[in-house]
Amino acid sequence: MSRLGIQQLQWIGAVAVIMVCLMMACSTIAFSFSDYVNYRRGVTEFSRFHAALHAAATISRERGPANSLMGASDEERSQFAASLMASRDETDKDIARLETLFRTEIDQSPEMRSTFTAVKAQLEAGRQAVDAVAATPLEERSGAKIAEAIQTMFRAADRAQDYRDAAGRSIIALAPETGAEVMLASMAGTLRERAGRLGSYVVMMMTSQGQARSHYRAEFDSELNRVLEVNALLKTYASTTLQSQAIASLLDQVAVSYFAGSLPYAQRVAFDLNNGNAPTPGEFTTKYVPGMKSTETLRELIETTAVTSLEKVQQKELKAMLISALLAGMAITVVIGLAYVLRRSLFQPMLAAIRQIDDIAAGNLVQPPRMPHAGREVGEMFRRLDLLREQQRFKRHLETERKSMTEELRRLSQTDALTGLLNRRALGEAVEQLFAATGSGSRSIGIIMFDIDHFKSINDRHGHAVGDLVLQRTAQILSPCLKPDDLFARYGGEEFIIVLNDATEASARATAERLRETLERAVISDQHGLKVTASFGVDWRTQCTIADWEKLAIVADRRLYRAKRGGRNLVCSSDNGTEETTAVSTGGSGPEKAGDANAA
Ligand code: GH3
Ligand code: MG
Ligand code: MG
Repeated sequence: MSRLGIQQLQWIGAVAVIMVCLMMACSTIAFSFSDYVNYRRGVTEFSRFHAALHAAATISRERGPANSLMGASDEERSQFAASLMASRDETDKDIARLETLFRTEIDQSPEMRSTFTAVKAQLEAGRQAVDAVAATPLEERSGAKIAEAIQTMFRAADRAQDYRDAAGRSIIALAPETGAEVMLASMAGTLRERAGRLGSYVVMMMTSQGQARSHYRAEFDSELNRVLEVNALLKTYASTTLQSQAIASLLDQVAVSYFAGSLPYAQRVAFDLNNGNAPTPGEFTTKYVPGMKSTETLRELIETTAVTSLEKVQQKELKAMLISALLAGMAITVVIGLAYVLRRSLFQPMLAAIRQIDDIAAGNLVQPPRMPHAGREVGEMFRRLDLLREQQRFKRHLETERKSMTEELRRLSQTDALTGLLNRRALGEAVEQLFAATGSGSRSIGIIMFDIDHFKSINDRHGHAVGDLVLQRTAQILSPCLKPDDLFARYGGEEFIIVLNDATEASARATAERLRETLERAVISDQHGLKVTASFGVDWRTQCTIADWEKLAIVADRRLYRAKRGGRNLVCSSDNGTEETTAVSTGGSGPEKAGDANAA
């Protein structure tokens, strides 16, 4: 990890956090989506459940007009027949709808297929039985036939319940939260069916005698127990489970219209049968059936409540999905934003700081551009770097000053303070350098030594300051007569030495003569009208080595004194005879005021 760059770490970190956010969001969205899809399918499944319940209810309801028709007199017949036809139409529509809604199951499951065939077959058989009974004259109708027709219709209703249960199971599997509603809606459907059967048993009792009637009486009682049980369960669980005021008031309505209305009426009719003042089946049915209506309304309300709650949870899951996506989006935006801010305020400035440190170490002290987005602490680091850069600049300045001072000191140590010429020690070093630059180790060298004539008397007559001025002016006046690579030094007192580079005998002599003449002609000080002369000794050698040059100086010095002895203001370039000495007009009479040198 430590080998990774800070920016790489930043990107890896950001990508990792984004991946985690995405994974969390995806898993939450996936769970919510799967629940959402389940609840959606639950809602669809509920319409099938409703269709199955509705079909079971219409089959139950069809028994009412069927019972009435089977017990009808010739006058009542057409009225009940019409209402039975209408009821059958409704049942047929429901069965057709059921077939459409359960098409897949009917096609794929032999069990569902045979149940559906059974519903239709039982219904058909029941209807035929009803029609057969109805076609028989009233006095010939048998109670047994009527009962058989009714029971065939019971079986058709039982088979239709199978569809209700299949749809109910499917809903509970998809959305277990709606289990209570599914069971309560089924119970309400069962209450309707059982209450209908109770009425049918009364009709069977009406249309039978003796033992058969007792049998139907017993069936009536046991059906009554079932009705009461189902109702007790509904009352216990519906209001508490569904927490609905509307359902509670419908349960009250069931209690009033059926349990305090239709049911006691059926019990009374059943009880009074043997007394002979019984109503006809048609009269009974007409009075009994409306009391059951509230059970159907109750069932439908429970279904509506269930669908509403399913739609609610479906919406909740949709919201959860959207919120998860939104939160993930926000988290990713925050991470990207954070990465961007960190990159701008921390990582990039740190890399810039590293570059600045490298620059400072390499001596590049140019002020780099500002990093305006650097964070507070990193900004502080840049201020420290600026300080360091400033210190380095100051150090560099000191170093430059030190160098120039050293250079000045070196120059001063090599220079004669009064004349600005090389001093004697520096001359030695300069000559060494001159020879060192020569590959062969030898050069053609000329040496000129000269000494100002009667200098003491200048000091004596004009003072030391003027003596100093003479020394300075002499150096100034004679320096331009030399080549740049000739060496001119003050040898001591008022004596000077010149080392001529690449000199021949002729050039050395000529140079010395030119110097002598130049000095002789020059006015040292206008103020004092002062002029001076000097005596020159010259020596040279074409292949001179470093070891030889001082010997040349000794010779030149000796010749200088020959020039002095020869009368001063002379150049002496030979040790014997006077012909080597350049005689001049002044004749060596010493320094004089300009214009009176010859007069002395
Ligand atoms: P000559 O022609 O034989 O050379 O005679 P001179 O008087 O020049 O010779 P001498 O050696 O007797 O005198 C040299 C004088 O130079 C002695 C000394 O006081 C003087 N002198 C040496 N150095 C300096 C200096 O730096 N400034 C001044 N003003 N005088 C100096
Ligand atoms: Mg002198
Ligand atoms: Mg001297």
